[in-house]
Amino acid sequence: MGMKKLVILGGGYGGLTVAKTLLDKDLPADTVIIMIDRMPYQGLKTEYYALAAGTVADIELRVQFPVDPRLILKYGEVTGIDPERKLVEIAGDDPVSYDWLVIALGCVDKYHNIPGAQEYSSSIQTMSSSRQTFLNVNNCIPYGQVTIVGGGLSGVEMAAELRESRPDLNIRILDRGASVLSPFPEKLQRYVRDWMQEHDIELRSHICLTRLEGNILHNQQEEIQTDVTVWTAGIQPSPVVQALNLPKDNVGRLVINEYHQLPDYTDIYVVGDCAALPFSPSGQAAEAQGKQVAEVLTAVWKNEPPRLGKIKLKGVLGALGKKSGFGLMGKRTVIMGMVPRALKSGVLWMSKHHLG
Ligand SMILES: Cc1cc2nc3c(=O)[nH]c(=O)nc-3n(C[C@H](O)[C@H](O)[C@H](O)COP(=O)(O)OP(=O)(O)OC[C@H]3O[C@@H](n4cnc5c(N)ncnc54)[C@H](O)[C@@H]3O)c2cc1C
Repeated sequence: MGMKKLVILGGGYGGLTVAKTLLDKDLPADTVIIMIDRMPYQGLKTEYYALAAGTVADIELRVQFPVDPRLILKYGEVTGIDPERKLVEIAGDDPVSYDWLVIALGCVDKYHNIPGAQEYSSSIQTMSSSRQTFLNVNNCIPYGQVTIVGGGLSGVEMAAELRESRPDLNIRILDRGASVLSPFPEKLQRYVRDWMQEHDIELRSHICLTRLEGNILHNQQEEIQTDVTVWTAGIQPSPVVQALNLPKDNVGRLVINEYHQLPDYTDIYVVGDCAALPFSPSGQAAEAQGKQVAEVLTAVWKNEPPRLGKIKLKGVLGALGKKSGFGLMGKRTVIMGMVPRALKSGVLWMSKHHLG
């Protein structure tokens, strides 16, 4: 009798949560989990901005995968999924077949078709690109100019952390909208703008980049000079998901049913940044969803109907260097200063010690 295979693509916040939750329970005796990732550990993506800035060491952001005879770890680059033949394609390797599949490959940068954007900017979307960004910003000449494109959570955290790492640098954030963190309440935006001003970080709003060319950023007719450019101006699901011809939401995430399955292929589950969830992508959402996928699989294996609660998220926390930060609890409750920063460190500590 052959073993049945649950294949998990991606060992990040979502995929690793599915694996760990299932390993904490009883797996059917005839079932193994195969988890495939390009890295031999989980990278704590929510802290990549600190790796790039140079304020934390690489090893601090790695979580070792569980060691368990029921878990097979496979390292490689996933290049495609064939839902009809139930196969996963891996670069330079044989395809892997599955009985159940979890897609948890996260997201990549979105460059909005701006010529030169990918070529002339540094990224913090993967651990490997964050290491490259670390070299670029830390090798930047004294008093050089670093430009961060995109004033969302990642851009703001990156700018603040870089200020802590390099007091000499000129740092600016370019934003398309009227302010950094524009989806957040005005009170929080103002707090962050004031912090940026106090820490000599230039904020420019209503920027519309049309082209990047070496050290020049074209803002329509204007030319903006830069030494290093960091891209935090948008994300989209993994290219593997982009290549799937299946129903998606308006930002390219796969549409799922109430059990986090593809409606047309209920043996395929989608978690995290690849899934069309009613909230914005976050590590928190990926973990909450990962737990539910484990519950559904357990019910499916027991031939019981799955019973899921509603996913509730705790709120958003952002860091402004190591000593300050901000948070949004619910839709309107804003917290600012040392308390949200301490909470953020606490959350990180919990996820490093598998207590999330
Ligand atoms: C700078 C920054 C700060 C953030 N801050 C926060 C925060 O404070 N709070 C919060 O909740 N969220 C935050 N996020 C968002 C959060 O990191 C993501 O939403 C979360 O990581 C999504 O989890 P996931 O499981 O979908 O993907 P990931 O955690 O990214 O996991 C994907 C995994 O798949 C692997 N992988 C990807 N493609 C392939 C491939 N083709 N082949 C093999 N392996 C592959 C990767 O190596 C990775 O291990 C932040 C993101 C960034 C970039």
